[in-house]
Amino acid sequence: MDWTIRIQHLTLKRPFRIARGSSDWRQTVVLRIESKGVVGWGEGAPNPRYGESPQLVMEKLESALPHLASLNLEEREAFLEAAGAQVEGVWSALQAVDLAVHDWWAKRQCRPLYRCLGVDPLTMPPTSMTIGIDQPQEVARQAMEAAGFYILKLKLGSDHDREMVQALRAVDRRPLWVDANEGWDDRELALREIEWLARQGVEMVEQPLPAARFEDLAWLKQRSPLPLFADESFPGGGALEPLAEAFHGVNVKLAKCGGILPALRAMERAKALGLKVMVGCMVESSCGIAGAAHIAPLADLVDLDSNLYLTRDPFCGHPVVEGRISLTPLPGLGVVPVPLPDSDSAGRRSAITDP
Ligand code: MG
Repeated sequence: MDWTIRIQHLTLKRPFRIARGSSDWRQTVVLRIESKGVVGWGEGAPNPRYGESPQLVMEKLESALPHLASLNLEEREAFLEAAGAQVEGVWSALQAVDLAVHDWWAKRQCRPLYRCLGVDPLTMPPTSMTIGIDQPQEVARQAMEAAGFYILKLKLGSDHDREMVQALRAVDRRPLWVDANEGWDDRELALREIEWLARQGVEMVEQPLPAARFEDLAWLKQRSPLPLFADESFPGGGALEPLAEAFHGVNVKLAKCGGILPALRAMERAKALGLKVMVGCMVESSCGIAGAAHIAPLADLVDLDSNLYLTRDPFCGHPVVEGRISLTPLPGLGVVPVPLPDSDSAGRRSAITDP
């Protein structure tokens, strides 16, 4: 197996602000593997919230891949188990490997990945379109701009949450989800906000309180008129059992779990615990989004839209048609790299082949 790894710079169309901060760019790590004449693409989206950086992911991949090079890619599960042991909890590094292996594995069978996994693309739920924290009139403008979507998701946890919701509701009555990103620090405040949001027709609330506050979250769950979904409270590799007390559902992201295989296991476990499952994303290109999209038909809720925020997408993937990701019948992940000007790619490029 040969491989190359690169840091991929992603520029956003507009600054994206959540409760923790704001940015108009992100970096992911793109992995290309090649074996037996077949190429597999993967992407890992490191998130500083979980102690990850693009540099850490690069280092982890550079040290892990030589140990994996002699393993048989056809034995996907054994290969990924070995990869999991190598990345030592850097889950977005495992995400990059997992996606590249799945792309390669399905292309070897000349079939789209969803077919290889036995997933029916026709059961794909609609995806939400996310709007970051912004001035109320800008939130309303972005809602109108997202005309092709059935569901909107608004980031909260600012000092003007109600103004944003009111501005949006003045122009739009579509289903609305909200994500506080741990931004409400007090359970009484969170309950008051959730009760008010329920009266505005909001349908669910993601991560209302700081991740580790399970006692307060369980208190909130008993009183909340809206379903509560865990995101930051479910970091990669974490157990799902404690979530059932404190949440109604969980946001499963490939970057947190380490790719498709661990995400499928987490989804199965969550459902067994009675939790609803959302499949979500970090800021990723169409490569990372495609990985999640192939298993998204198994989810109750889908939030896979970050490739749509990019000024230039380094991959061409699956389009959103009438509010749903429409999985194309291309083999593998179904993504094709798009050549970009030098300023958009790299920063640092690494080309390593078999020793
Ligand atoms: Mg979230």
